[in-house]
Amino acid sequence: GFVTFRKGKTPRRPGPKKGSNVEKDPVGVYCRIRPLGTEDQECCVEMISNSTIQLHAPDGLKANRNGEFKEMQYSFKKVFGINTTQMELFEDIGRPLVEDLIHSKNGLLFTYGVTGSGKTYTMTGSPGEGGLLPRSLDLLFNSIGPFQAKRFVFKPDDKNGMEIQSQVDALLERQKRDSQQSVPRTPSSRLKADPEFADMISPEEACKCDNVDDDCCYSVFVSYIEIYNNYIYDLLEDAPFDPIRPKPPQSKLLREDQNHNMYVAGCMEVEVKSTEEAFEVFWKGQKKRRIANTQLNRESSRSHSVFTVKLAQAPLDADGDHILQDKNQVTVSQLCLVDLAGSERTSRTRAEGSRLREAGNINQSLMTLRTCIEVLRENQMYGTNKMVPYRDSKVTHLFKNYFDGEGKVRMIVCVNPKADDYEESSLVMRFAEMAQEVEVARPVDRPICALAAGRRHRNQAFRDELSRRLEERGNSNNAEDPGLLNQLIESLPPIPRCELVDPADDQTLPNLIEVLERRHHIRQMITEQFNQTGTCVKSQVDLNQQSKISEKDKVILNQRSEIDRLEKKSKTLEYKIDILQKTTDMYEQDKRSLQLELETREQRLQKELSERRRMEQRMQGMVTDTKLKWEKECERRVNAKQLEMQNKLWVKDEKLKQLKAIVTESNSSCSAERPQRPSRERDRDRNMGQKRSGDVFKTRGGGQAVQFTDIETLKQENPTAPRYSILRNEESFLSSDQSPFSMSFVNPGPRVWRTSGEEQNPH
Ligand code: ADP
Ligand code: MG
Repeated sequence: GFVTFRKGKTPRRPGPKKGSNVEKDPVGVYCRIRPLGTEDQECCVEMISNSTIQLHAPDGLKANRNGEFKEMQYSFKKVFGINTTQMELFEDIGRPLVEDLIHSKNGLLFTYGVTGSGKTYTMTGSPGEGGLLPRSLDLLFNSIGPFQAKRFVFKPDDKNGMEIQSQVDALLERQKRDSQQSVPRTPSSRLKADPEFADMISPEEACKCDNVDDDCCYSVFVSYIEIYNNYIYDLLEDAPFDPIRPKPPQSKLLREDQNHNMYVAGCMEVEVKSTEEAFEVFWKGQKKRRIANTQLNRESSRSHSVFTVKLAQAPLDADGDHILQDKNQVTVSQLCLVDLAGSERTSRTRAEGSRLREAGNINQSLMTLRTCIEVLRENQMYGTNKMVPYRDSKVTHLFKNYFDGEGKVRMIVCVNPKADDYEESSLVMRFAEMAQEVEVARPVDRPICALAAGRRHRNQAFRDELSRRLEERGNSNNAEDPGLLNQLIESLPPIPRCELVDPADDQTLPNLIEVLERRHHIRQMITEQFNQTGTCVKSQVDLNQQSKISEKDKVILNQRSEIDRLEKKSKTLEYKIDILQKTTDMYEQDKRSLQLELETREQRLQKELSERRRMEQRMQGMVTDTKLKWEKECERRVNAKQLEMQNKLWVKDEKLKQLKAIVTESNSSCSAERPQRPSRERDRDRNMGQKRSGDVFKTRGGGQAVQFTDIETLKQENPTAPRYSILRNEESFLSSDQSPFSMSFVNPGPRVWRTSGEEQNPH
C-alpha cells in the first residue's frame, strides 16, 4: 500500500494542536535599504552591522524637538545594504522558500514599507534587475522542468483542492483548448514575448534546486489578486475590460475549505509550464491592474497584491510510466508573494473624500496586520489565549493559516533612507522588530512515498533500450518499410478484366481464378511474415520484461539478504541481552545472599555485645560485693583489735591501780574492793541494774574516788570517699544487704563523737 499523506484537497494542513511539541520558527524579518534618490541629500539610516541598522533623526526634527530624538537601533535576521544585488537577495530569501515549495511546504513572503522604499523593486524588479518573483519562478521551473506533468493532468477543483485527470481526459481537454485558441501557445524555449518585461529573467543566471524528487510529476498554477479598499479582485479573470464604459470589476469572496484554509472563491488558477509563460501571466495581471487604477482613479500604492505560485505534485506509478491515479496522493504547496500597500499614514498624502476613506481602509488592513502580530506575540510570550482579529481585514484573513497553522513566513522591510521618511521609517522598524518575536509552526517533511525510488529513471532506461532494439531490427529487416510495401503491392498480379459478355467465354473466369489464387497465396505469405515479426517483437518485449523482472528480483534478493542480516543482528543482540539479563540475575542473587549473611552476622554481634554487657555488670556486682565484704571484715578486725587493746589497757590500768593500791595500802592499810574485768555481758548486766557509769567509794586516804565501771572509748566515725561512690552506684544493692555494719554506711551523718556506752543504749 501507499503511505497516505496530505490530501489533494488543500495546500495547507489544519493548524497544529496547541501545546503539542510542534517545532516553531520565528517570522524571518529582513531589512533592505534602498539607495538614496538623486534629489535627496540627508541620509537617516545607517547600517551598523549585517544585522543592525541605526536611525538618525534628521537635523530639522532634532531642532524642532530640542534634540531629544534618540538614535534608535533595530536588529533583524539580516540587513541588506544599498549595494545588495537582486541575485544576492534572492539567494538568501527566495531560494529557501522555493526549495520548500518543491518539498511540499508552504511559504509566505511580504514586502513591507513606506511608498517608494523599494517594495515593488524588491518583489518584481525592473528590466535587467529581476526581483524575487521572476527569480523564484525561474528557479522553480529550472528544477522541476523535465518532471512536469502534461497540461490538464492536474485540475484545480473549485474548492481549493486538486484533482487528477486520466491521460485521455487531459488530452481531450488539450485538444479542445487548442481548437479554441487561434494562436497556439509556445510554452517551451525562452522567448521574450513582451519587451516590457524583457531581461527580467536572465538565462545566464539560471540555477537549479538539488534533491528534487524525480519520481513525482509536477504542475505549477499561478493566481494573482489585488486587495484594494478591503475588496479582493482577481487580476487574471478573463472578463474583458471595456475601455469605453468601464464598469468596476467584481470583487471576490474569501472562503474556508474543508481543512479550514482560506482561499479566494472562484479565483483563476492558470496552469503554466515555463518561467516565461508564468511571467507573461503575471504581466497580464499587472497591466490589468494598472489600467484599472487609472480608469478608476485609484492610487496604486494603496493596494496589496498577492501573487500565488501553487505546486501540485503526485508520485509516478510503480512502472514509472504514469501518474498514480489517486487523488489522495496529490500534494499541493504554495508560495505567496505579497507586495503590501505603502505603510505611511494618511495625513502625509493629504487625501480627501473617498480617497481618504479608502486610505483609511488600507491603513486599517495594515493596522489589523499589526494588531494580529501583536496579539499573536502576546499569546505566545505570555501563554494567553486572546482572539487574534484575522477577520478584521482581508489580508490577514487570507493568511490566517500561515500564522495559526504552519508555514514559513518571511518579511522584507524596505526602507528609503531619506530624511522625509524618518518618522514613518521608525514606525515601520518598530513593527518589523516586533514581528520577529512571533513564531510560526515549522512545516513538516512529507512522508516518503512507499514506492521504490528511481522509477522514472528506470522507465526511461527501459524505453530507450526498447526503441534502440526496435530500430536495430528495423534496420536489418525492413529498412525501407513503405517502399517494400509498395513494391509488394505492385508485385501483386493485376486483376484482369472480369466482365463477362460472352456466355461462351471460358477464358476470363479461369484467368481471374488463377490471379486471385496467386494473390491469395501472396497474402498468406505476407500474413505469415507479419506473424513471424510479431512473435519476434513479442519475444523481444518478453525479454525486456524478463530483464525487468530479473532486475526487480535482484532488488528483492538484496533486500531479503538485508532483512536476513538484520534479523541475525537482532538475534545476536537478543542473545546478548539474555546473557546480560542472566548475569544481572546472578549478581542480584549474590547481593541478596550477602545481605542476608550480613544481617545474621550483625544479629550475632549484637547478641554477643549484650552478653558482654551483662557479664560486665555481673563482674561489677561481684567486685562491689567482695569489696564490701572485705571492708566489713576489716572493720570487724579493727574493732576486735581495739577491744583487745582496750582489754590490755584495762589490765595494765588494773595493774597500775593495784600497784597504786599497794603503794597506798602500805600507807593506809585500807583495802579496796577488787575491780572486775570489763566485758560486754557485764556491762549489759550493769545497765540492767540501773547502774550509772561510775561508783563513788571512799578512798583509803579518807577521801572519796569515783570508779568508772565503763571505760569510755572514743570512736570517730569518718565515712570515706570510696564508700560514697559505692553507695551512689549500688545503693539498692547495698540497702538490701543484711550486714551488721550497714547502718553506719547507710547513714553517714555528720562527724559525731559517741561513747561506746551510748552505742549500747537502746534509746
Ligand atoms: P515601493 O514599491 O515601495 O513604493 P518602488 O519599488 O516602486 O517602491 O521603488 C521606488 C523607486 O526606487 C523605483 O524607481 C525603483 O526602481 C527604485 N528603487 C527601489 N529600490 C531600489 C534599489 N534597491 N536599488 C535601486 N533602485 C531602487
Ligand atoms: Mg510598489
